[in-house]
Amino acid sequence: LKKANQEESRQHNRRLVLNTIYNSGEISRVDIARHTQLTRTTVSEIVSEFIDAGLVAEVGLAPSRGGKPATLLKVDENARLMIGVDLAEKEFCGALVNLRGAIVERLCLSIENENAETALERVYALVEQMLVLADQPVLGIGIGVPGLMDPATGYVRQAVHLNWHDLPLGDLLHQRFQLPVHLANDCQVAALGEYTFGAETANRNLIVIKIGRGLGAGIVLSGQLFYGDNAGAGEIGHVQIIEDGEPCRCGNQGCLETLVSSTALLQKAHLIAPGEFPDLIRFTQAYQAGDPRAVSLLEEAGNTLGRAIIHLVSALNLNRIVIAGNLTCCGEGLLASIQRQVQNGVLPALAQQTEIGLATLGDDIVILGAASLVLKHELGLF
Ligand SMILES: [Zn+2]
Repeated sequence: LKKANQEESRQHNRRLVLNTIYNSGEISRVDIARHTQLTRTTVSEIVSEFIDAGLVAEVGLAPSRGGKPATLLKVDENARLMIGVDLAEKEFCGALVNLRGAIVERLCLSIENENAETALERVYALVEQMLVLADQPVLGIGIGVPGLMDPATGYVRQAVHLNWHDLPLGDLLHQRFQLPVHLANDCQVAALGEYTFGAETANRNLIVIKIGRGLGAGIVLSGQLFYGDNAGAGEIGHVQIIEDGEPCRCGNQGCLETLVSSTALLQKAHLIAPGEFPDLIRFTQAYQAGDPRAVSLLEEAGNTLGRAIIHLVSALNLNRIVIAGNLTCCGEGLLASIQRQVQNGVLPALAQQTEIGLATLGDDIVILGAASLVLKHELGLF
């Protein structure tokens, strides 16, 4: 037992030192000791291990404060790679990502009418090809899955568009590739990505709402992804808004995502102007050119989403809400409607402090989020 405790505390110290170096950019051993309250001997030992492993490098001398100048250390961001995978609706995309969230290689496989088995084969093929491209050790595989997941066991409980039900995806990938595998819902992963590699690092509490063909949210609390008791935290896309509304792919009717999603927007546009807005690109162009039909459809979507967001603001009182996904191309208009709803819909004191903004990671948000899941679990960073 004592040995186990010692190993635990060594592991804790290692993670503390690595986080300190990673978050400082460049730092000396003396300053690490000051920062972490560890002894200089312990810090030196741990740093030597990291240098031997190639994770940390000496990068020169600190400006002298009188006396012998200290050697500066930094994390070698290219010493390890993570594989981040986004199992999106039309294609599976994977990337090799370095320790600072830079995409080194990227690959997408198109997906059409896959059954459960062929979809799984496509995931294997994608990971295999990523591994061939990797020129540094790979820390693990991170996957953002659209659906209900159990992140602790790596089970996909349900991913409708892939026909996966109770699939032990984590185990299957681990057995095949002998690498650590970490999975979570794609919207949850997106929130972690924005927190880790986006512009939100300073916001320890954060909600990211991802709008695509569907809609969902991810919640970061005190710098940790919040899964909820059944890993379904943030599943706001299937909250019923209209009792006898449009049928939803979840089996219910009138869910939020039947009103706010790229699919819903294009369907409504088709009703108003058949054939004029065949895809999101055309819709965006019309919106940006000030087409009143596009402007009003987007405003309506923003209003509906804003009405849903006021419940999140009231229940959680998080100051920062970020909108991600493919409607951010019309982001300013969307934000204006949401902000109006929040101003009018919650206690003025809460509304004043709530900031709503747009995500910075663009189409890579799930890939980078999946990679950050690996970074967090394997190196304990963030
Ligand atoms: Zn639904």
